[in-house]
Amino acid sequence: MSDEFREIAAGLAAVAKGFYGRGWLLGTSGNLSAVVQREPLRMAMSPSGVDKGELKPEQLLSIDENARIVSAHEGKPSDESLLHIRIVKDRGAGAVLHTHSVWNTILSDQHAGEGGVTIQGYEMLKGLQGVRTHEHTEFLPIIENSQDMPALAELVGTTLSKHPVAHGFLLRRHGLYSWGQTLAEAKRHIEILEFLLETIGRAMHIQGRRSD
Ligand SMILES: [Zn+2]
Repeated sequence: MSDEFREIAAGLAAVAKGFYGRGWLLGTSGNLSAVVQREPLRMAMSPSGVDKGELKPEQLLSIDENARIVSAHEGKPSDESLLHIRIVKDRGAGAVLHTHSVWNTILSDQHAGEGGVTIQGYEMLKGLQGVRTHEHTEFLPIIENSQDMPALAELVGTTLSKHPVAHGFLLRRHGLYSWGQTLAEAKRHIEILEFLLETIGRAMHIQGRRSD
């Protein structure tokens, strides 16, 4: 393992612990990755079925562009590795993070009929890369969930090309994906989007109670 890989793995483990503490990665759910090298592609990827609150840097796997392990590890990379690889290739991302929060799960279902969640007019939108004003409109596309990962990766690619400025997307009744040039940027994007989804979800709930 290179020093660079170790540093990236330590960063991913720290983010996993923080997100676990927020309740976004419960029950071994969610996954995290970061690019170590682009040519040939090498990524640090969280292993499948591991408690993200207890994830150790040495448990991070090094995988290639086909999600095969290239490090001397026994583990199995996350089932969703193909989605991470697709996002890295299509968006030029340096890190990809995926959370299973209560609010992203609820909203990914509530807004499925509209094809996505529209987020508009919030100050927190300015935490997204390239956004300068609260007047920004962010559209988070919703993709139907599937266990067929090659097919889902294709669908992710098509969706990303249809929504070239989206900072993330939702898998229906499943979770949120976001990414960034760096791990710090990807972490910020997840925090911003989780905040906004929770805000929208709570606002809907309060409005519903008011109109009872
Ligand atoms: Zn997931």
